[in-house]
Amino acid sequence: MDIQKMVEEIIKRLKKEYPEPRTALNFSNPFELLVATILSAQTTDTHVNKVTENLFKKYKSVKDYTNVSIETLQKDISSINFYKTKAKNIHDSAKMIVEKFNSKVPKTMDELTSLPGVARKTANIILFNAYGMNEGVAVDTHVRRMAYRLGLTKNEDPVKIEKDLMAITPKEEWGNLSHLLILYGRKICQAKKPQHSRCILFDICPSRNI
Ligand code: SF4
Repeated sequence: MDIQKMVEEIIKRLKKEYPEPRTALNFSNPFELLVATILSAQTTDTHVNKVTENLFKKYKSVKDYTNVSIETLQKDISSINFYKTKAKNIHDSAKMIVEKFNSKVPKTMDELTSLPGVARKTANIILFNAYGMNEGVAVDTHVRRMAYRLGLTKNEDPVKIEKDLMAITPKEEWGNLSHLLILYGRKICQAKKPQHSRCILFDICPSRNI
């Protein structure tokens, strides 16, 4: 099977499992999604959702995050890994959005990645989940592992993996592909114990014997 056909088949099969692949992070507007995505690095979505439940009650608008000190924000999110850096990034991103983008989370890759703590992965998640835009493929640890196991890339660097995936996937599926691989990577194609015998990609996966 050629590689484009392989991606199409993977998407087709995984969409049967997950008809509407989206982030598991809770949010009700683009800035909340930005906050949740920054918090989610090296942390489970479940834990982030627990923390943001209170955080989003306390801070209603982008401006609210600029009206408190970084130390206060640090206390609010102190149960999260790397909370000091994350609090600073959220605070400084909010400030920049208020001052430079008229209090609205920008809709372009260049503008988004100019915000503190926002690289391509976070920007892709926001563009797809908050604005329905396919600008790239968000590559997290699950996408990275599954893309490699499925033979869709030979690279290990997320930026190169993203380029490989964009080259072989129809643009309208970029956001879906990322979330499908994340959902399936969490449930079946896990890092330590991939569940080959339960896998719906078994017959087409080059790593079924690992
Ligand atoms: S066959 Fe195994 S390695 Fe391949 S996608 Fe399925 S669980 Fe992952």
